[in-house]
Amino acid sequence: MLPARFIFDRSYVSANLPENNPMFDQYTFTAAERFLRYVQVDTQSDPQSNTTPSTEKQKDLSQVLVAELQAMGVSDAHLDAFGYVYATLSSNTNKDVPVICFCSHVDTAPDCSGTNVKPLVHEQYSGADIILPDDNSIVLSTKEFPYLKEHIGHTIITASGNTLLGSDDKAGVAEIMDMAHFLTSHPEIKHGTIRLLFTPDEEVGRGTALLDMDKLNATFGYTLDGGEQGTLEDETFSADAATITIHGVIAHPGYAKNKLVNAIKIAGEILEALPKKSFSPETTEKREGFVHPVRIDGIAEKATIEFIVRDFTRTGLAANAEKLQGIAEAVLQKHAGARMEFKVTEQYRNMKEVLDQHPQVTDYAALAYERSGIKVRRESIRGGTDGSRLSFMGLPCPNLFTGMQGIHSRQEWIGVRDMEKAVEVLVHLVQVWEEKS
Ligand SMILES: [Zn+2]
Repeated sequence: MLPARFIFDRSYVSANLPENNPMFDQYTFTAAERFLRYVQVDTQSDPQSNTTPSTEKQKDLSQVLVAELQAMGVSDAHLDAFGYVYATLSSNTNKDVPVICFCSHVDTAPDCSGTNVKPLVHEQYSGADIILPDDNSIVLSTKEFPYLKEHIGHTIITASGNTLLGSDDKAGVAEIMDMAHFLTSHPEIKHGTIRLLFTPDEEVGRGTALLDMDKLNATFGYTLDGGEQGTLEDETFSADAATITIHGVIAHPGYAKNKLVNAIKIAGEILEALPKKSFSPETTEKREGFVHPVRIDGIAEKATIEFIVRDFTRTGLAANAEKLQGIAEAVLQKHAGARMEFKVTEQYRNMKEVLDQHPQVTDYAALAYERSGIKVRRESIRGGTDGSRLSFMGLPCPNLFTGMQGIHSRQEWIGVRDMEKAVEVLVHLVQVWEEKS
């Protein structure tokens, strides 16, 4: 049960039904209502844990989802021991339509508390600064979030100041659930077999670790884990990790003259030798790649620096690693007796490599956006998603918008308008697949 003050006012929903869209005339969107309930369940994941799911509490929400799907008549909905929810909306057409999967993650980021989330509904948002009640230092302004301006006069949802909101990715969860509700209550909408998938631990990079692809048995997929309305992400970084291990020469410090070579100092020199105005996350944007030291460890005898390496192309990725290696080797040259090892490990690859072989997956999504009256903005993600891993696991999987904003922070917010549009897109998308098959 929602505390009374968070109970969602339905009245605005009917006022904001999509215009000129007879399909939705009789339907009241429930994505926002679902969202308000889901965000109150603490599902924070834990990078230190070795179990799957990393935190057992993620299942608290997954169980709610299963029960709600069962109540809709989705009889195979179930939660497995590892925290994955699988469910099927059966085909209601004679056509041979590829099985499409919609996927969101239930966990929230470890960066910010997800305990006792109190979602606040701001109806008819005026555009003025919003000071969050539980911590007056947390303010949402159009200056910091220009996208808020597009929501003036509409309803937005924020957290209360002490926690994140959890729109990443409970917005996606709520939208998929509302699509399921719409389709199960509108059997006249033709679609093929649709698989719903809710994963744990995306935020700690293990969202697909124990996913059973055979059981999922889908041909194409979509993650709902994107931001602004209209964004359609079919490209992610390609990512490697690089480790530089420096071996110094050790000697008793009292008798070390002309003998000792300190590995920690060499590590410091390598970091100092990195470019100051390029080649780093803090100096790059758009399609530029970078290297980024994420951890340093060492004693005088031996030191290691761990980097992440990013680029949109494989050649660029390899070139970035090579450049890093060159910088490190040049430093090592100055220290006779010291040596280094340079090791590159693959992390994930740009999903576009896979999606380019199946252009219809992204094209049909673009068509569904257009049918929903949305201008499509194809974008690249300067990071990875579960979709990048899924694409290489055999499920080509671009990322659709959910509306989430200011994620992983106490300033997180979302516009209800965007959540409803996302559901509308999904309903159009399943029909596009049916029509084109
Ligand atoms: Zn996410």
